[in-house]
Amino acid sequence: MTETTQAFQQSFDFIIVGAGTAGCVLAARLSENPMHTVCLIEAGGSEKHPFISIPAAVGCAIMSKKFSWGLKTVSQPALNNREIPLPRGRVIGGSGSINGMAYYRGDGKDYDDWATEGNTGWDYAHLLPYFLRSEHNPELANSPYHYTGGPMGVSFIPKPNKLCKSFNAAMEDLGFPYCNDFNTAHPNGYGYRQGSIWKGKRVSTASTYLRPAMNRKNLTVMSSTSTRRVLFEGTKATGIEIQGQDGAIHRLGAGKEIIVSGGAYHSPHILLNSGVGDSEHLNAVGVPVVHHLPGVGKNLHDHPSTYTALDMKDSTSYAISWKALPRDIVQLLQYALFRGGPMASNLFETNAYIKSQPDSDRPDMQLVFQPARRNIKPFPIPINHGYAVATVCLYPKSRGTVTLVNNDPLAAPLIDLALGKEQEDIDALVRGLKLARQVTLHNSFGKYQADERVPGSTIQSDAELDAYVRETLITVHHPGSSCRMGNSDSDVVNHELKVHGLENLRVIDASIYPRVPAANTNASVVVIAEKGADMILGKAAPDPLTELA
Ligand SMILES: Cc1cc2nc3c(=O)[nH]c(=O)nc-3n(C[C@H](O)[C@H](O)[C@H](O)COP(=O)(O)OP(=O)(O)OC[C@H]3O[C@@H](n4cnc5c(N)ncnc54)[C@H](O)[C@@H]3O)c2cc1C
Repeated sequence: MTETTQAFQQSFDFIIVGAGTAGCVLAARLSENPMHTVCLIEAGGSEKHPFISIPAAVGCAIMSKKFSWGLKTVSQPALNNREIPLPRGRVIGGSGSINGMAYYRGDGKDYDDWATEGNTGWDYAHLLPYFLRSEHNPELANSPYHYTGGPMGVSFIPKPNKLCKSFNAAMEDLGFPYCNDFNTAHPNGYGYRQGSIWKGKRVSTASTYLRPAMNRKNLTVMSSTSTRRVLFEGTKATGIEIQGQDGAIHRLGAGKEIIVSGGAYHSPHILLNSGVGDSEHLNAVGVPVVHHLPGVGKNLHDHPSTYTALDMKDSTSYAISWKALPRDIVQLLQYALFRGGPMASNLFETNAYIKSQPDSDRPDMQLVFQPARRNIKPFPIPINHGYAVATVCLYPKSRGTVTLVNNDPLAAPLIDLALGKEQEDIDALVRGLKLARQVTLHNSFGKYQADERVPGSTIQSDAELDAYVRETLITVHHPGSSCRMGNSDSDVVNHELKVHGLENLRVIDASIYPRVPAANTNASVVVIAEKGADMILGKAAPDPLTELA
């Protein structure tokens, strides 16, 4: 589609689409220079809400229709045709406003792989300075892998639930090493993990990057505004088409660049709606082709997960229950008065990051301990008592797609994660489940006299566990690679995050991962945005920290 600049109602130097984890960093960094005019467009509204700021309310944030897109996969044939829910933030701060706040970078070798595949400057040694730049982590200030003075506060949960000790004791007894910091170059083991939590409140790029920048005159933030498409003159991106809540459609111009930061599902969605993608698919849904780029929406993957859950009468676990009611009231007051106690926790306090196979050259599995009962039906707060361990496959082989259902830019994307398509992913979860059971049924938990509710004692053989995995598999919300960075025919952006074959257009968010890192993904998205901002501004990259890689 060809547009002319005269049609624009307003123009800026830079337009950023999506005020999520990446978009908020970009808006703050690009508007640091008062000479640049920057416009940030977000489909959702304000993130100022207790569900978002109180760490223990994370379940309420995820389940709230107000803050989430309400996406789900198409029917997944390998999972008994289930449609898997896919929470994604539709709010200032994006998924970073509703995420679980676990602070994880992953193994440095993952980033080295990105660089080896031709993405110059994306190895761990080059990225570590950006991890440091973004972090404020006084508890680990003596480590060269950490920094104090960056925007994003990171901390340990001050008083983890007692059940965490049983998890750690079981892991020790099973022969795994203790890990006191999961964010060095090569973490491995079990132990307490840090969270993006500061002084009892969620830390997001909205609260730490965007909010402090919002009084700048050169930064315009348009919330509750959907981006319909990017507009082009030939191969040059010149503006965007937006639609507010009143339904009116406007056009904004960008003199320098448009940066798409809609996240792993919506960035490909926006490109496809703009006519950038596989021409065969675009023709089939009636979107005029601007640029044939077959990789848009391909290579999508996420970390699949399943769990074992136990119920118990003992009231040690976090919960709402009659037994725990007096304690719950005290804890509410503790939070209201001091921003402390379990309400200041993201509930998932200890975990393991381990090699599930002896020949792995790096951890390939996460076991996440939940010192709370896993509800039978979805409900944001644990009711009654128990504990659970989720096992996460960190290197899934299955690859899926994001496509369009039709040519309506406001229609939800069709998301096929192809979960469980590759048997290796199911096998990894069966392996993880067996280990999780060894942990939850270990005698370190003996005094709690819990009963395994799922899978349940009758499910023992590999075939039974395989069937259980297919019936329970969900994702842990780390999708990426749907606008993959690289130089092959199925890649979308180059190592400077510029869309192949087009001008003035970059994608900067989780969709550019060459492969999703084996970790929770928020911290690495912040780093992608920090590095992306430097590249846009033409700033030299910091010196690589080769000696720490
Ligand atoms: C429930 C949940 C739990 C998670 N837990 C953790 C965790 O514990 N630790 C961790 O490290 N990571 C976690 N993650 C993952 C992490 O939060 C994400 O990887 C990260 O936020 C992705 O950032 P992004 O910038 O790529 O996308 P997002 O943060 O999703 O931002 C995309 C933004 O673009 C907006 N947008 C999309 N389309 C349009 C459009 N057409 N017009 C205007 N705006 C648009 C969206 O509303 C959104 O605000 C979790 C994620 C979820 C959803």
